[in-house]
Amino acid sequence: MAQLIGAAVQQNAAHITLITPDAPVSASSHGGRAKCLQRLVRLGLPVPTTVALSFEAVHGLAAGEWLGMDQVLAAFDSDQILCVRPSSEDPDWGGPGAILNIGMNDAQFTRLSDSVGGEAARKLYLKFIQSYSTHVARLDPDIFDDLDSADVNAVSCFLEAYESEAEEPFPQSRSEQLIGVLRSMARAWEGTTARLLRQAKGAPADAGLGLVIQAMALGVGRGESGSGVLQLVNSVTGVAQITGRYMRQSQGRDALKSEGSALFLQKDVRGPSLEEKAPQAFLQLTKYAALMRERLREEMQCEFTLENGEIRILDGVRVQRSARAAVRIAVSLAESKIISREEAVMRVEPRALNELLHRQVDRTAKRDVIGSGIGASPGAATGKIVFTAAEAQASAARGEACVLVRRETNPEDIRGMHAASAALTERGGMTSHAAVIGRGLGLPCVVGATSMRFQTSKRRITSPDGRVFREGDVITVDGTNGQILAGEPKMMEAALDDSFQTLMTWADMSRDIGVRANADTSADARTALVFQAEGIGLCRTEHMFFEADQLIAMREVIFANASDDRSMALQALLPMQREMFVELFEIMQGRPVCIRLFDPPLHEFLPTDRAGLRDLAEALNLPLSDVTRRVEALGEYNPMLGMRGVRLQITVPEILDMQARAIFEAMLDASAGGDPVVPEIMIPLVSAKREVELVKTRIDAVAAAVRTERGRDFDYRLGVMVETPRAALRAEDIAPHCEFFSFGTNDLTQMTYGLSRDDAGRFMSAYVQQGVFPEDPFHTLDQEGVGELLRLGAERGRRAQPNLTLSVCGEHGGSPESIAFCREIGMDYVSCSPFRVPVARLAAAQLAIQDKTS
Ligand code: PEP
Ligand code: MG
Repeated sequence: MAQLIGAAVQQNAAHITLITPDAPVSASSHGGRAKCLQRLVRLGLPVPTTVALSFEAVHGLAAGEWLGMDQVLAAFDSDQILCVRPSSEDPDWGGPGAILNIGMNDAQFTRLSDSVGGEAARKLYLKFIQSYSTHVARLDPDIFDDLDSADVNAVSCFLEAYESEAEEPFPQSRSEQLIGVLRSMARAWEGTTARLLRQAKGAPADAGLGLVIQAMALGVGRGESGSGVLQLVNSVTGVAQITGRYMRQSQGRDALKSEGSALFLQKDVRGPSLEEKAPQAFLQLTKYAALMRERLREEMQCEFTLENGEIRILDGVRVQRSARAAVRIAVSLAESKIISREEAVMRVEPRALNELLHRQVDRTAKRDVIGSGIGASPGAATGKIVFTAAEAQASAARGEACVLVRRETNPEDIRGMHAASAALTERGGMTSHAAVIGRGLGLPCVVGATSMRFQTSKRRITSPDGRVFREGDVITVDGTNGQILAGEPKMMEAALDDSFQTLMTWADMSRDIGVRANADTSADARTALVFQAEGIGLCRTEHMFFEADQLIAMREVIFANASDDRSMALQALLPMQREMFVELFEIMQGRPVCIRLFDPPLHEFLPTDRAGLRDLAEALNLPLSDVTRRVEALGEYNPMLGMRGVRLQITVPEILDMQARAIFEAMLDASAGGDPVVPEIMIPLVSAKREVELVKTRIDAVAAAVRTERGRDFDYRLGVMVETPRAALRAEDIAPHCEFFSFGTNDLTQMTYGLSRDDAGRFMSAYVQQGVFPEDPFHTLDQEGVGELLRLGAERGRRAQPNLTLSVCGEHGGSPESIAFCREIGMDYVSCSPFRVPVARLAAAQLAIQDKTS
């Protein structure tokens, strides 16, 4: 019978479709819910009769077009109570709330009072009068506030209240009620607020809404009647566990809203359960859910109703899940052979892994937001505010967690950052010092928090609403979303569990671009290894010099007057550098380690305040005036474009000699008993081929000397960091002198735009808001401009030297969009902060799988 009616329904109006196993229903024309219901029908589940309206039909309804209501109602018995639910293409885009019990009128009330009891019938009618008043007639919901719904005469009181407010009687015709409901839902979808809300969730501006009209399974009445939801996994952990609630004499999702009166599903010490009250129904429901999991190839939450013990499945929705649950669910579906391993890899959003890799603010925690900035390093941490690196160290020594708050950080703050639980700065962007170091350490970090007032000399910060936070006050930095919170919200621990490891192993089986880590210290290298980086793509050696003992020696180097004095002072640094390199080589167990020669301007190693200058004068046994003069002389107007990188290696080559020797000696020491090491030496800030020639000659000389002294032969690979536009443009000249290029997209972005990476945070949000830049180019690789240089550099470099290894080691190396670009232009690997390695591995695998399947 239903099939016959269905044929009529489809024939008369293609956009009004009875859901049968083979009706023409698709998510793109009728929405995800309609499609899912069809799948449930195909599985033979007890789904009540359902009619789907297409996007086009609903759009027409919003515009006031007449819909063939007779055709819709032809699918249902004449006294059938109905409900309407939204069906957007992607269920995550939302839609207007469902409206239940359409068709309730005086006659139905009388009929149902006989069949299911007066109280149950009253409940249904009152519920419908209220929702119709609010959503269709648009009356003020509080007109019913003073009425007692438990009163036996409640129905007439509610109807009178409606009539007096709407100035017309409550509609008694089911058809009239239904058209009102459909039209109000269609119009709600087309409203501006709803559109903006769904666009924020990724919906296109013209996303359509479908509606499903379903025979109501009442959930109230005699026997075991009620409604609930059931799923087979825990939404937070992803572990297999029957979860959900059931509530007697209820409808829709009431069971989830009720506090205390709902039943557990499975037997539970905390209270009564459906399993005990209706064991057959419970067992059948779990079987249905398992069938849905297997055949819909997804963990589904099933919405059900019991009517005198009989089950109806009203809906199936994809289980909401945390990132860690998403990983476990994907792995478990693949292990159950329901989906392939490749599909499991495709099902986890790479950036969502951050939730597993770092502690986070618990999703359910209340957030008292006191400011925001750029979330530069993910994860969240709580601590007492400190304003200097020294205080951070003192705080760590006392065992107290602290948040280091600075206007901006500089190399002198590194030890403070090591000691702090999180960092917060007023200035800076995605590639500023605090951001780069924070990501390297896995330290939650918010930079460019210009919404707050920083008065660091007064030791206080002020939120936009005027609240003042001083030294010692407890705040939380959420580097995942860039928020600063007052106090200590509930946290969720990082969870690198077995499912995570399994998923990453599967990802590596598909991946076709290498992933290395940027690691400066042995701690970084260990993290890189835990995350299975294939090597170190960038070791910024200058960070080693900020260790206390190396800093003093470095300052002596800077203050040496002649080359010989400098070489002498460097002798003190040599064993320390060598030891650090030995450690890195040993930790990486034969994997490639790319060491970048000294890069920053020298004055970064000198103190900036008077007390520091005095300490330095004392340490060097020099008059304060000499020290001050020398520090001033080293100052530059534009240090990032000044005496740094290869320019230092050419003008102060003794540092280069020391570093090359330390690398070679360390390599020989580390290779003695362990895995063989072929070090890679990288020259920063190159802009001309002659620079490479000069540095190569000098390194070759050191290599020759070490070979003779040690009586052992060895190789090394020399590479150039392409981070000036000229190096990219002249790649054809430069490539023949080296074996690899690594694109430093941080400096390359800075120099391509002429945009200071340390200061851009001040205006970046205004620029992005006004559409000058689509995104912060330090965050998302500018494929049009900077990318053009990458493409040119790669092509020209490979033209001159076909075996040239190509990579990116700027911060962009860890972002999924940049990895796609790097693959496209033929890079061999990307290198990123250790904590971003898993994200990069997963993103790279997804790109390879996508290519294979498309
Ligand atoms: C770069 O410039 O992209 C880079 C990786 O080097 P740094 O951030 O140390 O300047
Ligand atoms: Mg650089």
